[in-house]
Amino acid sequence: MSRFKALVIDKTGEAQSVQVRTVDRSEMMAGDTLVRVTHSTINYKDGLAITGRSPVVRRFPLVPGIDFAGVIEETTDPRYAPGDAVILNGWGVGETHWGAYAELARVPADWLIPLPTAFTPAQAMAIGTAGYTAMLAVMALERHGLTPAQGAAIVTGAAGGVGSVAVALLAKLGWRVIASTGRAEESEYLKSLGAAEILDRAALSSPGRPLGKERWTAGVDSVGSHILVNVLSQTKAEGAIAACGLAAGMDLPGTVAPFILRGVSLLGIDSVTVPRERRIAAWERLGADLSLGTLATMTTTIGFDDIVPTAHRIVEGGVRGRVVVEIG
Ligand code: NDP
Repeated sequence: MSRFKALVIDKTGEAQSVQVRTVDRSEMMAGDTLVRVTHSTINYKDGLAITGRSPVVRRFPLVPGIDFAGVIEETTDPRYAPGDAVILNGWGVGETHWGAYAELARVPADWLIPLPTAFTPAQAMAIGTAGYTAMLAVMALERHGLTPAQGAAIVTGAAGGVGSVAVALLAKLGWRVIASTGRAEESEYLKSLGAAEILDRAALSSPGRPLGKERWTAGVDSVGSHILVNVLSQTKAEGAIAACGLAAGMDLPGTVAPFILRGVSLLGIDSVTVPRERRIAAWERLGADLSLGTLATMTTTIGFDDIVPTAHRIVEGGVRGRVVVEIG
């Protein structure tokens, strides 16, 4: 396959355009390994890239798509051979390096990990960067020493990708999960994933008091801004919140009261540059702690032509759970 199908973002002046076109291998970026991409997914960051709503894409032309599953076609790396099934997420793929929404991807082998044995390529992408980030957040709470015996765990943006996987993981690990959502119509869905209580996002959206009633011990926040501030102000003494997202905003308009008067911790999660060993550990934990049946109930599957409309929908908060893209 010397020429192949790709979604390409380009920029002329200030105007960004997105189109499906045939590209030539000679246009691809450097890398020691060529992968035939079979599956990808749509994360919030892919939505930002394709809509141009945030400056996620930092070189043009660029193939977006921050994670993929596929099969190695060619490699010079001794750890891999043609035919090996691999996955990739992060490392700037889909931001500064050509990404997943193409039939072929050329990348450094160091960015790849073998497809985890617990998952098919489609299941690995149903988890994708969002689900893997939820696992990193749960592992961060565990490293902090928190256990379900100490109180409840809150998940914000619960009906989204990170949120849905976080609800399922925390519930399976024995936590009493409080799911915060702006979509009341998804209450039954969230309960089916394991949520014990639904909290209307509006209750956390406005500026609140520096310290509120202590309601939860742990949390996974994918939205930021006032919601994260209010979550922190209602966290029990010595508890911790893992922050990974900005769907409500990048600001943190709060006070240090929860930190200095209750010993609450804010744990930052960045999935992009996690070292290879911790990535493999996170994927192993997903194999152990995420029910495949539950994963299936939070997943929808789309084709190549649906990528752009779904990217627009995700940044409007309109996608439930996770989306798998069938590439080839
Ligand atoms: P989704 O769109 O699937 O989920 C985001 C959810 O946030 C929505 O479903 C919605 O949940 C809620 N939400 C959306 N808009 C608003 C708003 N204006 N105010 C309050 N809540 C809102 O995205 P992902 O799960 O893929 O990503 C979630 C966030 O995590 C993104 O900001 C993303 O950039 C970030 N992220 C960060 C990573 C990292 O490495 N740090 C890795 C992966 C993701 P509901 O309807 O239930 O309220």
